[in-house]
Amino acid sequence: MDIKLYNTLSKKIEVFKPLQQGRVSMYACGPTVYDNTHIGHMRKYTMDDILKRTLTYLGYSVKHVMNITDVGHLSNDDEVSGEDKMEKGALKHGKSVWEVAQEYTEYFFNSMDAINVIRPDVAPKATQHVNLMVDMVNELLKKGNAYVTKQAIYFDITTYPGYGMLSGQKLYDKQIGVRDEVVTDPDKRHPADFSLWFFCVGRFADHIMRWSSPVGEIEGFPGWHIECSAMSTHYLGDQIDIHTGGIDHIPVHHENEIAQSMCAHHYHGHEQFVNYWLHYDFLTVDGEKMSKSKNNFYTIDDIREHQINPIALRLYFMGTSYRKPLNFTWEGATSANNIYTKIMSQAVSLYNHDVVGIINENYVNDFKQAMCDDLNTARALAVVFELLGDKNITDADKYATVIDLDKVLGLDIEQNVIALSTIPNEITELAEKRKVAKELKNYKLADELRNEIEMAGYEMIDSSDGYKIIKKL
Ligand code: AMP
Ligand code: ZN
Repeated sequence: MDIKLYNTLSKKIEVFKPLQQGRVSMYACGPTVYDNTHIGHMRKYTMDDILKRTLTYLGYSVKHVMNITDVGHLSNDDEVSGEDKMEKGALKHGKSVWEVAQEYTEYFFNSMDAINVIRPDVAPKATQHVNLMVDMVNELLKKGNAYVTKQAIYFDITTYPGYGMLSGQKLYDKQIGVRDEVVTDPDKRHPADFSLWFFCVGRFADHIMRWSSPVGEIEGFPGWHIECSAMSTHYLGDQIDIHTGGIDHIPVHHENEIAQSMCAHHYHGHEQFVNYWLHYDFLTVDGEKMSKSKNNFYTIDDIREHQINPIALRLYFMGTSYRKPLNFTWEGATSANNIYTKIMSQAVSLYNHDVVGIINENYVNDFKQAMCDDLNTARALAVVFELLGDKNITDADKYATVIDLDKVLGLDIEQNVIALSTIPNEITELAEKRKVAKELKNYKLADELRNEIEMAGYEMIDSSDGYKIIKKL
């Protein structure tokens, strides 16, 4: 089955054709590790995960690379006047930039593990690949696409005719758009030229992270955009199948990545640097983007504090198309949690250790069709609910099918069912005693025993042929 995806570059839904049959190269813009990851970021990385799981489910072998930005990301995109996010984070948390990078990289991965996002095959750190960036800057200087000032090395956007193709912004509009921003470098030729490299001079004279510069004696550090171009080429080659990011990356970061990569590697060719550009819309709060700067964000710790299982967020995110904003509310998260609990308890009741079911191909097909329709996650979820409610399918077949679909959903159903159905001996003994008490019509004792079982975190479900014990969710 072919998968169709909305390509920001062509502004159309296209049938996905990989460069190499059966293989997909996927580059996902990663986090800037200067503060806690919030659930807005988590929406983006869950979508990456769902895309990757879907491609894998369809039979592709996916190589997934995601960078860790631990240097060079300025708050004001590429103006020399912008604040360095890592140094800002270090100041805020009273730590060194290196400690901040380490700590928040860990926090990022812990948050992702908690919602079952499969880790990328490679997660390169920018600080460990500066040599690649220096080489690429030199290549751009050599080809005449970059120029050096006292403060920085800039990419000259007028040397790349395709500039603006991704966002549909003309150079003229862009010029107007950035005119109001503070530009402190008088030698910058065009307001939208962006920094490939910053020299440790002026406001960056004391910059802590520093390396030998591509030119001159003064040390410096790389800009943010060059990092993704250099590392994606290194790990995935000159051409990539899929590149992902949030919609905020369309007008600047990805436009700049295209310009750098096309000029360094493809200038005279007609190929694209990336064949499919995928952009996810935001998680919002009261209609505004969830972000650190607006201080309207929640982290995985807040989710846990509200007694919400982090994995339930996957269901929350899947309820809305990735191309639409999703407004976060605690009611919405709680309702996703209730749905998650229902799916899990139903899965537990479907599970029978002794019977192996057969995967229902009709449901698999419907599910795949939904996912192949530009990742229609809401429709795919509806297929799962329809399956769970279908009275014409045996429990064993239903269970086998839902476990199969979970390869994409990522709810860890099987692992949870096994954990929930593994009952300690003392609980089984209490349940047996209760059964006898009930048979002897000693309801007081039966109730006491049920209470004891419940206090220990288990639940007894009476049925016509006896009872079942499950661990409480
Ligand atoms: P950053 O660490 O700011 O570079 O962001 C990492 C990724 O998360 C980028 O692809 C952003 O587009 C994305 N992102 C940031 N905030 C949100 C949000 N509120 N909703 C969805 N994605 C977001
Ligand atoms: Zn990037």
